[in-house]
Amino acid sequence: MEKVLKDITPKSSDFSQWYVDVIRKTDMVDYAPMKGFMVMKPYSYRIWEFIQEAMDRRFKETGHENAYFPLLIPEHLLAKEAEHIEGFSAEVAWVTMGGSEVLPERLAVRPTSETIIGAMYSQWIHSYRDLPLLINQWANVIRWEKATRPFLRTTEFLWQEGHTVHRTAEEAIQETRQQLEIYRTVIENYLAIPVVQGVKSAGERFAGAVDTYTLEALMGDGRALQAATSHFLGQHFSQAFDIRFLDEDGVLKYGWTTSWGSSTRMIGALIMVHGDDKGLRLPPLVAPIQVVVVPIGRGEERNRVLAHARALVARLREIVRIKLDDRDEFTPGYKFNDWEMRGVPLRIEIGPKDIAKNEITLARRDTGTKISVAEDQLMTRIPELLKDVQDELFRQAHEFQQAHSYAIDNYQEMDHYGYRGFFRGDWCGSEDCATRLKTETGITIRCLPLEESPVTDHCVVCDEPSQYRALFARAY
Ligand SMILES: [Zn+2]
Repeated sequence: MEKVLKDITPKSSDFSQWYVDVIRKTDMVDYAPMKGFMVMKPYSYRIWEFIQEAMDRRFKETGHENAYFPLLIPEHLLAKEAEHIEGFSAEVAWVTMGGSEVLPERLAVRPTSETIIGAMYSQWIHSYRDLPLLINQWANVIRWEKATRPFLRTTEFLWQEGHTVHRTAEEAIQETRQQLEIYRTVIENYLAIPVVQGVKSAGERFAGAVDTYTLEALMGDGRALQAATSHFLGQHFSQAFDIRFLDEDGVLKYGWTTSWGSSTRMIGALIMVHGDDKGLRLPPLVAPIQVVVVPIGRGEERNRVLAHARALVARLREIVRIKLDDRDEFTPGYKFNDWEMRGVPLRIEIGPKDIAKNEITLARRDTGTKISVAEDQLMTRIPELLKDVQDELFRQAHEFQQAHSYAIDNYQEMDHYGYRGFFRGDWCGSEDCATRLKTETGITIRCLPLEESPVTDHCVVCDEPSQYRALFARAY
């Protein structure tokens, strides 16, 4: 029984080690032979599929179509937008050989696809009738990272990147906000992670963007994680790639473009927001297994209980993702711990006494509570309980976020909280103050929150009159 738990470092004593222990022990990932790369094993890939399904459906409902662009980008294209290449150059991996021949021009492994997509769009768009152009791509990208951590920062990761072109700036901004709202819906409703919506300050925005909208989530160790971003690119890329259209008035105009992305990083957030000392706690909507059934009984009883459990699972399979743990080499106690570690939201325990009473025992992973439920009520009770677990995980995460959000007047106050949490305060808008803050404390401006009215008081760094209300935190 202790064997399972012994292998996970307590969350409170070493959060980073806890994180690594959890993802290894739950068989979510394995490390690849190359430094900085990971293998997503079925248990985490299935979660990614649920996220994909939820996002993809909403992308399509809002008029987007999926397409696929090449993995490699010729250097001259990547270099076309000056800010963009400057922002990414340190992280780009290059292909210089094809077979035994040195390539005349080296090819970048995409760190993101604005440039190759921009080059194609310039050939596809001629008239205002071709707009808006709304395309999304599910793909992998490579960013050569120095320090890596599974899901949070890996050299290669999976994501989706949407790229759109519009006739007007207003339409493009509307698109940027709409996609941010889709991200918010999926992250809050499926992953049960509360987020703060905001716009990035100039120093933190995407390379080449006019505005970057972001969703910031608070992890269990009080650090922030950028969960998804949506960029209004203005005409930077359309000018660099000559994406022009003949408007209704007969004038040739540059399109207004956007791009927006979310990645497997969200799985890292899922682990860090909901996990506890026992391991994962998965929200039912993205749990590969929603209910696990553990039969209890020895000797002759065993077969009778098992037959009963099999019949039960066959019925419930129609409404939930359910698994029967009929491994006979482990005790029920071991199995309880094992499935708790894997974060399965509900556990059904069934033994001879339960069968005699036409009952089963249900244990909730989120609260640890156990209840008895009549077997004939399971078809209605289980979906209700899964919904409760989903809501409760969000509620707990939201409560944690609120309890670790502080209003500050001066940046030195953050020291009192060990620089852990969401700090709201005013900022003068100077990048010097942002840089000083980062150098002295490791704190960055996560965003200028959308929900808050701009307050003009004094900057928490320099004390000069402020321009913005900002959300400050140490970030992953
Ligand atoms: Zn300042």
